[in-house]
Amino acid sequence: MFKKVHLHLTLLCAGITAFIMIVMSLCYLYVSEEGLYKNQFQAFKNDINTITTNLEQQSVISMEWLSKMEAQGNYLFFVLDNGVPFLYNQLKNYDESILEDQLMQEALEHYNNTILIYPDVRTSNSYVSYHFEYEFSSVSTNTKYFASVISMGRYASSLEIIVLSSLTSLEKQIGEQRFHFVLIDLAAILALTIFSWIFTGKLLNPIIENQQKQIQFVASASHELRTPLAVILSAAECCKKASPQKQEGFLKTIRQEGLRMSSLVNDMLTLSQSDGHRFSIQMKPVELDTLLMNSYEAFEPLAKEKSISLSLDLPDEALPLCNADPERISQVISILLHNAISYTPEQGKINISLFYDKDNHYLSVKDNGIGISDEDKKKIFDRFYRAEKSRSTKGHFGLGLSIAYEIVKAHGGNIYITDAENGGSEFTVVL
Ligand code: ADP
Repeated sequence: MFKKVHLHLTLLCAGITAFIMIVMSLCYLYVSEEGLYKNQFQAFKNDINTITTNLEQQSVISMEWLSKMEAQGNYLFFVLDNGVPFLYNQLKNYDESILEDQLMQEALEHYNNTILIYPDVRTSNSYVSYHFEYEFSSVSTNTKYFASVISMGRYASSLEIIVLSSLTSLEKQIGEQRFHFVLIDLAAILALTIFSWIFTGKLLNPIIENQQKQIQFVASASHELRTPLAVILSAAECCKKASPQKQEGFLKTIRQEGLRMSSLVNDMLTLSQSDGHRFSIQMKPVELDTLLMNSYEAFEPLAKEKSISLSLDLPDEALPLCNADPERISQVISILLHNAISYTPEQGKINISLFYDKDNHYLSVKDNGIGISDEDKKKIFDRFYRAEKSRSTKGHFGLGLSIAYEIVKAHGGNIYITDAENGGSEFTVVL
């Protein structure tokens, strides 16, 4: 399922960015091509102005001058004397001159059509000569041209010079620019797709991990609930046929297992509240030493029952108040003390201590019990995790430390474990 989502997200991400990039490239190309075209047309007009001025200054238009101009500016010149093609046009070879003749006719036709639309062109310029620039597409050469008709009145005759400039090189330049943009866009789309694949993969990772954790959590919870449930069902079955004296024993078992289930369900509820950020934490200034004293008094009888010596070390001077939820912090201390008593053999020692350093309260529970291997240290805060050595301990589901971890985290604090010097383990909570 996540593979499909990953693919769809990648396509969506890459698609949207590629679309924006292509639209921007097209806009850029449009503006740039318009600019190139306008600049070229302006340059052509300037050249025509120069040519017209030169022509006006010459009493006779020499063929050498026209040939020189053609070669210099990549232009084609056609000269019409009173509408009749001038000798200059016939100097070229036969095929070339036929093609150019057609070209000239097309240019003239276009000019005459345009003149009909803008008749004032003829009069707007100097009365001696005028010129008019336009663009047209030739059918015979299949090429676009900028064209200009320079009309000069000389004595009683009229001289018309048609100048054509092919747009082939401009179109080639535009074509190359478009080709480069296609290449750049394709490379960018490829890079975007790879980037989107990695990026969306990274985004999905926590969701995938979370889902796997949820599956694992439900599987472990069902497994843990099955055992007391099976005991309750079989005890209830036996209770039906048992004598009244024996019934009492079965009912006791049912009650005990029911309590076990209830404590497990409460733990799971606490964790699910923490996951859904519905963990209620009522912060207020708390005297941690008083809190530890209360926990000590509450657990002393239990420790005594197991012949474990429980001690409490508090600093002599009064510590600054700690901003915390007293109920929740008591819960953390209870979890740590309960574990310490469970995993410390008889005649063992457990020590609770508190000290303050650099704005932090350090609260620790140290025992000389079975200890925790380095391998297990990495996992004991995971839900339902129990180290192999402690699996037989009844009433332990492997949720206590994960609850403690969530509570400390909600306080913005830290909880870590170290080996105690006497072989057991030491849990430290930093608030
Ligand atoms: P449990 O309910 O099983 O104690 P916890 O989450 O509180 O679950 O603890 C996880 C595991 O960490 C325990 O199963 C045990 O293996 C190990 N552990 C916790 N506290 C101690 C301790 N004081 N000494 C040794 N092992 C401990």
